[in-house]
Amino acid sequence: MAYTYLAKLSPRQKMWFIVSVVAVLSISVLGILCEPDRPNQAENQFTISMSIKEIAPKLDVTGKGLARELALPLDTPKKKPLSELGISQEQLDHATTHILSHRSTGLKYYLFAAIVLFGLLYLTRFGRPDNADISERKLWYPPIPYITCLLAVVLVCGFLLGKSPNPMEGTVKVFKSMVGLYPSMLSKLLALIFFVVLAIIGNKLICGWACPFGALQELAYSLPILRKTKRWKAPFWLTNTIRGGLFCVVLLFLFGIVGGRKGFVIYHYLNPFNLFNLDFDHWLILVTVVVSLALAFFTYRPFCHLICPFGLVSWIAEQGSLTREKVDHEKCTDCGACIQACPTEAAKGRVSDKLFAADCFSCARCLNVCPQDAIRYGSVFSKSSREKLYEM
Ligand code: SF4
Ligand code: SF4
Repeated sequence: MAYTYLAKLSPRQKMWFIVSVVAVLSISVLGILCEPDRPNQAENQFTISMSIKEIAPKLDVTGKGLARELALPLDTPKKKPLSELGISQEQLDHATTHILSHRSTGLKYYLFAAIVLFGLLYLTRFGRPDNADISERKLWYPPIPYITCLLAVVLVCGFLLGKSPNPMEGTVKVFKSMVGLYPSMLSKLLALIFFVVLAIIGNKLICGWACPFGALQELAYSLPILRKTKRWKAPFWLTNTIRGGLFCVVLLFLFGIVGGRKGFVIYHYLNPFNLFNLDFDHWLILVTVVVSLALAFFTYRPFCHLICPFGLVSWIAEQGSLTREKVDHEKCTDCGACIQACPTEAAKGRVSDKLFAADCFSCARCLNVCPQDAIRYGSVFSKSSREKLYEM
């Protein structure tokens, strides 16, 4: 199958394939070269004879941020030694370890960009061989490149490089800096903009192809052994309401409007990215990981649809995506093949031209099932056959 697919690629597509691999390798090497040496900051360099004011800047958090991590009120005196505030050395070590685990690896930004670029070129340039016609559509968009990317993302951007940065954290940190938990809001905002841009360049490509926990759920859902199992397609109105409702509740608690404890972050207890550091500092985190992955065998990306704040942000962003799967309504006969192949309600939304379709993760499942060849992945600015017809 892989050989036949490669043989059907035109010379131009083979060139694109080589370009994409070279680009991924070059961007990754550039990321490695640009990665600054980290100062060796063992957590035990901090002692409880020190104050919050002395420790916080060295951890790149504000005094409020460190106080929150130590489960102290945000207005705790910052100049007093921690021993006088009732903090033990063990509590301090735990807090500093946790804060340090959130430090971003610059290399991961390069890898995210490289994988999104590869996904984009696969979907728009060489996934569909020029020399395989509609009768050979099963050869289009073979899953091997996608599965290879997902495995690499889980292993390298997940377990090897740790949980930070990731799109979920990128979203939450912006709001945390609004309540003064981080010294600079600009750097957090730039990180979020980076992820949003990757979601716009290709429809939610950062989630579909490059997010480590998204990739784990995708792999669970794609297990060949479960191919014949009937899966549950969760109604989008329901999942999006839960996801949006949770986001509002999180903000109410974070800003202290509810609960009276400003800086309280509910997402902290639901953060499955901790898996990649094997850091389950609250039992709810482990429950989130286990339940999300268990459900992912039977329904598509449950964590993304129900909990992840970036899932919500990128769903909004994808409404303005520059490339996506597009349905040519002149050719479409409403046979429902793509709707059946799609693990979400996205294809249904595209076929019915719905203004706000459900999340599409650019997984390509719908791109090789249409008997009318009415679905393409491409620029939103390119013309459909209907528009071309009017021009003639
Ligand atoms: S929505 Fe899913 S894939 Fe996207 S950032 Fe969240 S966990 Fe990752
Ligand atoms: S199958 Fe659904 S989620 Fe996947 S690319 Fe098609 S519309 Fe998007």
